[in-house]
Amino acid sequence: MSGATPPAAQSATEFDAHDQLRHLRDEFHIPKPPNSQGLQITGSDLQQQAIYLCGNSLGLQPKGTRALLWEELDVWADRGVYGHHLHPNSRPWIEIDECVSEEMAKIVGAYRSEIAVMGTLTSNLHFLMAAFYRPTDLRYKIIVEDKAFPSDYYAIESQVLWHGLDSSDAIISISPRPGQYTLDTDDILKVIEEHGSSVAMVLLPGVQYYTGQLFEMEKITKYAKKHDIIVGWDLAHAVGNVELSLHDWQVDFAVWCSYKYLNSGPGGIAGIFVHESRSDQGRLTGWWGHDRASRFKMENNFVAIPGAGGFQHSNPSVLATVCLLGSLKVFAQTTMKVIREKSIHLTGYLEELLLADEETAKFYEIITPKNPSERGAQLSLLFKDGIMDTVFRKLELAGIIADKRDPDVIRIAPAPLYNSYEDVFKFSQKLREAVLEASGAVKP
Ligand SMILES: *Cc1c(COP(=O)(O)O)cnc(C)c1O
Repeated sequence: MSGATPPAAQSATEFDAHDQLRHLRDEFHIPKPPNSQGLQITGSDLQQQAIYLCGNSLGLQPKGTRALLWEELDVWADRGVYGHHLHPNSRPWIEIDECVSEEMAKIVGAYRSEIAVMGTLTSNLHFLMAAFYRPTDLRYKIIVEDKAFPSDYYAIESQVLWHGLDSSDAIISISPRPGQYTLDTDDILKVIEEHGSSVAMVLLPGVQYYTGQLFEMEKITKYAKKHDIIVGWDLAHAVGNVELSLHDWQVDFAVWCSYKYLNSGPGGIAGIFVHESRSDQGRLTGWWGHDRASRFKMENNFVAIPGAGGFQHSNPSVLATVCLLGSLKVFAQTTMKVIREKSIHLTGYLEELLLADEETAKFYEIITPKNPSERGAQLSLLFKDGIMDTVFRKLELAGIIADKRDPDVIRIAPAPLYNSYEDVFKFSQKLREAVLEASGAVKP
């Protein structure tokens, strides 16, 4: 680009200037441009910092995280086992989850006693299904979405088989209408109505990982509960992305990972929600779910911690927990309401820029819902004519970090905590160049 600044760039500068969350970008390390293929990034104005639009896959590292990790390594080095009780930074390992539980509960809209920070997402899904999926002869079906994340599907299918049931009978998967990519809430409600008293559980994603669709969690939950169905949500792509009120919505249980929008680092510690009304649910147990006061008496009579804490099994990874803390300290500087407001505007701006460029927009379709209340911080671009791989490669060379899902989709996630309007504007320019070259409209 040369000459006068285009109007859209001007508005990026203005939007950034008025962005209430702008200062939070400085709390994160912005990665160097992608060279995953060992390619030299030349001729790019992004040689120092990438444009990172992949927070839906792995959130960025908060700058404060490293110091927290070192503190724990120092305590371990200097104090050994005493670190469990005598901790110079007031984080005795015996109750390490205390340092994250309050903020975590706020983010998902729960009482502190309704959440626990533990394990990993798929394992937690198995554990909570073991607790909540109790098929009987009459009520044994699970309603899922047809394009569920494979790990979720494997968990669900294997639970069904574990109970000796036939998965083709017990799993009801809902598909989009012909020609559509996302699910209509009405269709979901209709399936619930249709199968009614034979359904044991509805298990859906809060935000769909592929299309970015935000489900109407409250409506679906309340509708299913009227039919006495247990409702669980996988919030992997929803937590830290959209506003949640799990308690008020009367969700029975939920699970999430923390390395996507919650920035806790690869393989970070996950979270669970169990509604207070479900605190007595039978479950698979471990010593960390046992009453804290008598846990170390080592007697074999299980007394559950009231609430989600009673669903814990093991003493949690301290290193993983303080990595989560590093990020939650950033979240604590604002609210999910403010984050979501920026997110809606930022993703809307991205969509506007993309649609305005008619010359390139005809080479792909945005399969994420248009309505901001039906999506989070993500647009999924479905490319035509097999050009996705080439476009993706060109974006990488131009310093963009995004995410592709074969065969044809690139997912772009402007994360409101650290992405700027300028990021989004520059991305739109790089996408234009990449699409024109990949489609042969312009010789590279
Ligand atoms: C990211 C993601 C996972 C990953 O599961 P892990 O157990 O954390 O490896 C599972 N399900 C969904 C829907 C996801 O988005």
